[in-house]
Amino acid sequence: MAGLLFGTGGVPHSASLNTTVAGIERIAELGLGCMEMEFVMGVKMGEDEACLVAEAAARKGVKLSAHAPYFINFNAREPEKIRASQDRLLKTARIAALCGAQSVVFHTAFYLGDSPEEAYNKIKKYLEEVMLQLRQENNRVWIRPEVMGKQSQFGTIEEILDLCVELEGLAPCVDFAHWHARTGIFNSYQEFVSILLQIEERLGRVALDDIHIHFSGIKYGAKGEIKHLNLEESDFQYIELIRALKDYKVKGLLICESPNLEDDAQLLQKAYNAIVP
Ligand SMILES: [Zn+2]
Repeated sequence: MAGLLFGTGGVPHSASLNTTVAGIERIAELGLGCMEMEFVMGVKMGEDEACLVAEAAARKGVKLSAHAPYFINFNAREPEKIRASQDRLLKTARIAALCGAQSVVFHTAFYLGDSPEEAYNKIKKYLEEVMLQLRQENNRVWIRPEVMGKQSQFGTIEEILDLCVELEGLAPCVDFAHWHARTGIFNSYQEFVSILLQIEERLGRVALDDIHIHFSGIKYGAKGEIKHLNLEESDFQYIELIRALKDYKVKGLLICESPNLEDDAQLLQKAYNAIVP
C-alpha cells in the first residue's frame, strides 16, 4: 500500500448514476482513493459487469473492497443458515476477486445467547471451511471480519484478532466507530494508539501496512450502536484518530460510512493531509 487511502462505503451520493462504475469515476473526480462495493442486500453483480468494474478501477487508479451481505450468521442454529452464510461469503469473495478488489468485509455472527467461547469455536469451524474452499480456488482476497458495534454481535477487537491469528487469509476490518459505540470509550489519541499497538502485537507490522478501516460518526446507548451519524453531529474525536493513524504510518483503506459518505471522506482526507508529521 502506498499510503492511507480515503473513500466511501458505497457509490458516492454525487455520482452521475447509482452504479459501481459511475461510483469509481466519481471517487477519482473527488480526489479520493478507494470505494467499498456494498453487496449488503445480496450479490447481484454478474461476471461481465465485474470485468467492467475492474477495468474502470484500474483506469482511474481507485482501490476497491467489497462488503458481503448482511444476512450472514456463522453462529446460526440451523445448518441451512450456516451453509447460506458460507455461500454468501464465498459468492462475495468470487465477484470481488473479479472486480480486482483486495478485501471482503463481513459481519460474522450474533451470539444468540451463547457464551463468547461457544460462539467463537463454532464460527471458527465454519469460517475455516470457507477459507479452505477459497484457497482451493486460488482466491487470495483478504476476508475481513468486522469489529461490531452492538453487544449482541460477535466482534470485539479481541475476538476479531483471535480469529485472524488462527485462520490464514483472515485480516481485521477495524471499525473505530463501532468500537467506540460498543465500549463508550476509545475516543482519544492514546486509546486509538493502544488499538494500533494491539493489532501490531497480535498480527505484526504487516497488519498496519495494509489495514482496512471503517469509520463514521455514531449514535450509541447502553447496548452499543444505534445508528451512524455525520462526523460533525457526533462526539467522535476524529482528528485524534487521524493523528494516531498518521503518527504510526498506518497504510491501507479508510472507508467512510457516515450518511453523507463523500463529504466526511473528504473531511478526513483533508484533516489527514493537514497534519504535519
Ligand atoms: Zn459492516
